[in-house]
Amino acid sequence: MSDTASDLAQMPEDWERALAVVAHPDDLEYGASSAIARWAEQGKSVVYLLVTRGEAGIDGIAPAECGALREREQIEAAAVVGVREVEFLDHRDGVIEYGLPLRADIATAIRRHRPELMITLNHRDTWGGTFRNSPDHRNVGLAVLDAVGDAANRWIFPERITEDAQPWNGVRWVAVAGSAEASHAVEITDTLDKGVASLEAHRAYLDGLSGDMGDTGFLRTVAEDTARRFGGRLATAFELISFS
Ligand SMILES: [Zn+2]
Repeated sequence: MSDTASDLAQMPEDWERALAVVAHPDDLEYGASSAIARWAEQGKSVVYLLVTRGEAGIDGIAPAECGALREREQIEAAAVVGVREVEFLDHRDGVIEYGLPLRADIATAIRRHRPELMITLNHRDTWGGTFRNSPDHRNVGLAVLDAVGDAANRWIFPERITEDAQPWNGVRWVAVAGSAEASHAVEITDTLDKGVASLEAHRAYLDGLSGDMGDTGFLRTVAEDTARRFGGRLATAFELISFS
């Protein structure tokens, strides 16, 4: 494929509010945050909702101590890319269950924040090939896709409707990061450095990884690989699922 090939379509940018929902602190920093930095620079509003505090994510630090540490790192990582609102649900890291409580929590967040774009992480069984995705990512991604319809229907989770959380049918797309079925991309030439810095904000997490897994240089490699499918421009790819 030549350097000017473009099989990835341009991500829509005619929106004002996005809500990013992922399982763990660091999930958005493995690629999506470079795109989020661009959107924040354009004046768009992006809110983060973390389903857990990532308390089971560092082998050498017990959950009781780890959750608060990773929460702080996530808030710092968000600030690096211009995101000021970071919320946490308290589902348990590693054992997130797909089900009505998770759908209700995400639908309520959609009703409160009224996003046009949802951002989440790969909900599919693998990262491509045979490398299996984790149950937390699969369950959260699937619940995000399902909660779009839940949020719009006032007869679904009516007990969660309040003055500040009214039914919302304005979600137009879910953008899935890390999907092997990417369809769209957005240029990150000017914001890749911010994306790398946002991952580096997860210092305790990166320090806890073995070998060179904590090296953040791969983010540029992935952006360069995506550029080959996007007219030669450094980019982040998403699988875009349309709801309108
Ligand atoms: Zn994760």
